[in-house]
Amino acid sequence: MRVVLVGPPGAGKGTQAQFIASHLSIPKISTGDIFRANVSGGTELGKLAKEYMDRGDLVPDEVTVAMVRDRLSEDDAQEGFLLDGFPRNVPQAEVLKKMLAEFGTGLDVVLNLVVEDDEVVRRLAGRRTCRSCGKVWHVVFDPPAVEGVCDACGGELFQRDDDREETIRRRLEVYQEQTAPLISFYADEGILQGVDATGPVEEITQRAMSALRRFAD
Ligand SMILES: [Zn+2]
Repeated sequence: MRVVLVGPPGAGKGTQAQFIASHLSIPKISTGDIFRANVSGGTELGKLAKEYMDRGDLVPDEVTVAMVRDRLSEDDAQEGFLLDGFPRNVPQAEVLKKMLAEFGTGLDVVLNLVVEDDEVVRRLAGRRTCRSCGKVWHVVFDPPAVEGVCDACGGELFQRDDDREETIRRRLEVYQEQTAPLISFYADEGILQGVDATGPVEEITQRAMSALRRFAD
């Protein structure tokens, strides 16, 4: 199966990508992994991408697209793949569609992990990080024995700026702005499938798998 996975920060996308890909015996292809592989492999595209990243600039779409094309041309991706982090916008989605059509194929389904903003805030804003050892705790899901103190090393716990409610809500807004058009694009294509991404991790995977089965035949 050829699957794209989308979902907001805090939806557990990375974890689900891993589980779903392994259930389906297809490679999980994330843009992060592709970037790292190209940069560490010293490919021409990797060198180009690194120039942008070193300057603190975004890697242009055409470089990302070329890397995705190379990756999707590899042997292990011929029977299917799960894409995570690509496409990010409608132009990229259109390029992907054209690319797959050239390969004589197309996407089967786009899974959209659905989580309420308040739930994302509850998950992320409860995180506390140890100043000494860096271990991450959670005030509700994984609290230390003594509030504000790391069980592992006795260090002081603090809330990172990234885990503050305002920061999380801002990231969610940016995500919605960028992703809403992508979601409607795939809804129009008739391949969008929402998956309730609340509750235990295994239950979310099961929901995703039954959603995929509906598209399998
Ligand atoms: Zn610690």
